[in-house]
Amino acid sequence: MLLIGLTAEHLAMLDAWYFAMIPALSQDSTALTNYSHIDLHSHSNVSDGLLTPAELVQHAAAHGLKVLALTDHDDVAGLDEARQAADACGLQLINGVEISVTWRRRTLHIVGLGIDPEYPPLVEGLRQIRAGRRTRAEGMAASLQKAGIEGSLEGAYRYARKGIISRTHFARFLIEQGYASEMRKVFKRYLVKGKPGYFEHHWASLEDALSWIINSGGTAVIAHPGRYDMGRPSMLELMEEFRALGGKAIEVVTGSHTEAQYQEFARLAKMFGLQASQGSDYHGQGLSYMEMGRLPSLPAGCVPVWQNWPALAAAQEQN
Ligand SMILES: [Zn+2]
Ligand SMILES: [Zn+2]
Repeated sequence: MLLIGLTAEHLAMLDAWYFAMIPALSQDSTALTNYSHIDLHSHSNVSDGLLTPAELVQHAAAHGLKVLALTDHDDVAGLDEARQAADACGLQLINGVEISVTWRRRTLHIVGLGIDPEYPPLVEGLRQIRAGRRTRAEGMAASLQKAGIEGSLEGAYRYARKGIISRTHFARFLIEQGYASEMRKVFKRYLVKGKPGYFEHHWASLEDALSWIINSGGTAVIAHPGRYDMGRPSMLELMEEFRALGGKAIEVVTGSHTEAQYQEFARLAKMFGLQASQGSDYHGQGLSYMEMGRLPSLPAGCVPVWQNWPALAAAQEQN
């Protein structure tokens, strides 16, 4: 039964979701002002981005950002360098991380914002996830080899010189070899469930990831929910479970969402009493869905995840 965990109240709200709630939001005239100077999701070459943490911060500042969260995959090693660069150019850095999670055999990404990067359970949990990445990479390479694609492990590691190995490094290898022309296509044809290059791997549990983030003083955010290939009942159950475990927000505006998805996830956030986050998920030129500094406003009716962050309130007033 797919709907286990949902209350009758939520089930009753299902039908209302696409209908009654659409006018409810569109009639809300309290549109949020422009917060395009806040970007709460980005990657350096400590994970699978192209720029060093310092270069990333400088790039952000050059594109008009005042607040940036560095959220490398399963690693916080770039935060010190990023903070030095941020202090030097007057940008406010939020300590972040993007944790790989397995939830009901799906991989999800949970962003932690305002974490303490030295909190021991977080440090140890991330270390264990990173160790698992090598195993997964070998499995992915074997899967690609079965599909006739040779040398992908070495090819992917060439791109992961500094950081940890990820699907993006395999994607770059596949593009380099002419198997696809760009990121969106390479992920559609390879590296996802049911396609060559996919390898099932067990990441952290949702419960562990949220406990590391929350107990280190951070805010847990579901990253790019529109990228998870799940039906509506599963999405609703995820939101419910996430909230029950102490999750606070979902990314409503993110580089990989369509405008329709901004609206869809704004409604879902409202329905579950979750706050809204925004971030480009910038990885570097040619690897990103969106350049920095171009985030559109959160849809009306959203409660921004930063609303009670005192330091950000100051940055807003300057805007
Ligand atoms: Zn992600
Ligand atoms: Zn990301």
